[in-house]
Amino acid sequence: MTENNNHLEKARLVLETVFGYDSFRGHQEAIIAHTLKGKNSLVLMPTGGGKSLCYQIPPLVDGGVGVVVSPLIALMQDQVTALHQAGVKAETLNSTQTAVVSQSIEASLQRNELQLLYITPERLLSAGLLTILKTIKVTLFAVDEAHCVSQWGHDFRESYLQLSMLAEYFPQVPIMALTATADPRTQQEIIDRLSIGSEQVFKAGFDRPNIRYRILQKQKPHDQLSAFIQQEHRGDSGIIYCLSRKKVERTASRLTSQGIAALPYHAGMLPEERQNNQLRFLREEGVIMVATIAFGMGIDKPNVRFVAHLDLPKSIESYYQETGRAGRDGLPANAWMVYGLQDVVTLRQMVSQSLTLGDVQKQVERHKLDAMLALCEQIECRRKVLLEYFGEPIEHQGCNNCDTCLEPVATWDGTIAGQQALSCVYRTGQRFGVEYLVDVLQGKVTERITRFGHNKLSVYGLGVDRTRSQWRSIYRQLLARGLITVDLEGHGSYQLTERCRPVLRGELTLVLRKEQRVPQAYVGNTFRSGSVGRREKRLWEALRAKRWEIAESQKVPPYQIFHDATLVQMKDRLPRSNEQFKALSGVGDRKLALYGDQFLAVIERFVKSPDDKRMTETVVTTLDFFTAGLTVEAISQRREITLDTVYAHLAEGVISGVVKLIEVVPVSEQEVMVIEHAILESSNEHNQTLRGVYDALDGAYSYGVIRCVKAALQRALVD
Ligand SMILES: [Zn+2]
Repeated sequence: MTENNNHLEKARLVLETVFGYDSFRGHQEAIIAHTLKGKNSLVLMPTGGGKSLCYQIPPLVDGGVGVVVSPLIALMQDQVTALHQAGVKAETLNSTQTAVVSQSIEASLQRNELQLLYITPERLLSAGLLTILKTIKVTLFAVDEAHCVSQWGHDFRESYLQLSMLAEYFPQVPIMALTATADPRTQQEIIDRLSIGSEQVFKAGFDRPNIRYRILQKQKPHDQLSAFIQQEHRGDSGIIYCLSRKKVERTASRLTSQGIAALPYHAGMLPEERQNNQLRFLREEGVIMVATIAFGMGIDKPNVRFVAHLDLPKSIESYYQETGRAGRDGLPANAWMVYGLQDVVTLRQMVSQSLTLGDVQKQVERHKLDAMLALCEQIECRRKVLLEYFGEPIEHQGCNNCDTCLEPVATWDGTIAGQQALSCVYRTGQRFGVEYLVDVLQGKVTERITRFGHNKLSVYGLGVDRTRSQWRSIYRQLLARGLITVDLEGHGSYQLTERCRPVLRGELTLVLRKEQRVPQAYVGNTFRSGSVGRREKRLWEALRAKRWEIAESQKVPPYQIFHDATLVQMKDRLPRSNEQFKALSGVGDRKLALYGDQFLAVIERFVKSPDDKRMTETVVTTLDFFTAGLTVEAISQRREITLDTVYAHLAEGVISGVVKLIEVVPVSEQEVMVIEHAILESSNEHNQTLRGVYDALDGAYSYGVIRCVKAALQRALVD
């Protein structure tokens, strides 16, 4: 009892001094206490819910090494570098390393020097490693992405099955299985396979309240997408998912031509090219990745502000996992999707024609697709459907952060229209797709209709009072509700199902969604909302520039220095001392020691700097970056402007007194006098151009330097 109290006391201290948070969130504390008692657990926690702290803290409290099993090499490397930033002794063992590197890591493991070891399942199960682990103190085995052990789940991995031996081989070491996506059936499979015991489940709830869900009808998808980005996410980092490689390429190049930084990512690219784009996405700010689903596993970038889908995902699990990559830092983020009739048909055909899926698996896939469609056609809260799918009933009526809550869907009684649409399928022999069916309903005169004699049917021309897009919407909703289906052979023809009978007989009222002609843009779901003043924005940019400069010099992504959430706190609280800085969330002892002074200096200088309204915004930005401590070269690189332009901006700063000449130019006082002399000389000769001065000095000093010295002279004359 007392030992456990001591443990908890120590866990809180680790949380504060190593990771920089003053209190645990949700179930974290209970899970850590449970593990420190040596017990197994299944942890169900949404992405961004603080899953990793649950297994990172026990080894730091209890000594020994925590072994973290994950299939995602990029994610493991990312976590290891983040832990190094916090001063934790962590390493990873995986197939991408050289033998020399992994031997040295194994050696330090044997010497009990590691606190956390990240490892792939294949590597863990090798005989050599198991032998080493037998001889040292292992605090816990954390099995991340635990849904991979489930054959019912959407991401089964053969190697995960063998992890069932851990419980037998290390009976005294607690196992912690973690996942962010698992429906009740998958949860049970994890418990069984890893011998966890069902009384040890910690369910944090899957809700991601900061994500706003929005699903729109597909009209002109590219126009819709670029409007969404331009209006709500200018300069933000985001991910756009498309189904095909071709569409990925096309979308990325269209966005690029509109001045939006977008990179493609798909399996057809060269590995180096793909790697390079991924690295840019992680390291740079404001880069958008356009990708097939091949991208995203193991991406832990916390400030992805939106995830957009241009095609329908094949299941709610996929949708939830992909959209879950937005807003991991807890700040507002958008999950945005457009979908249309063709998506449904394409996905159904892909399932039917698949050569790798067996009949049972095909049935599972169809079931999952139907659930996904039901989410799209939902007329109530989207979040409610999502959470219920994962076995998590919610009490409130609506979440107030999804499109259907924010703008309730208009509905209409579509019973008669539905009957007409169904009977058109039936009368034409269940052999045609939507375009033909609508032609018949609208009484079009085509060669095919005449050839089949469908102009003689009772349904011919019955639907002239509705537009083509209204009919398509009706068919889409009938498909989504399972009243019709696409033929199994994959020709795209519609067929009736058993479920349409009550509608045809008039026993069931069909309530359909009314389509909105112009999808609306929502405002205000970004943390840097329009109300932010110019000064506040300046400080924000200066802090980001400082973070970028530090990250660049260490070759790590900026978020590993500090998360956006920490920067937002700096901007809002304006800490002026180490103590105040330490109180920010995400600042532990090591980060305080490494970076505290640099950020405090940025804030200090900023608080003191005057806000000169006569200067243009671009000049102010350069001056802010300069006072934040960035070099002229770094400013030029970050702002993508020439060195001369940077100096021109700094010269304005010298004139107005915001910066001093001696801070700006890399020359001695003596040299300044020489340059001043040349400037005065040339002005005597009525030849005031910089070129004249430059030539007079034999090109020894750049135009930028001359410009700044001249500015200082001007200021001296004014004083
Ligand atoms: Zn809602």
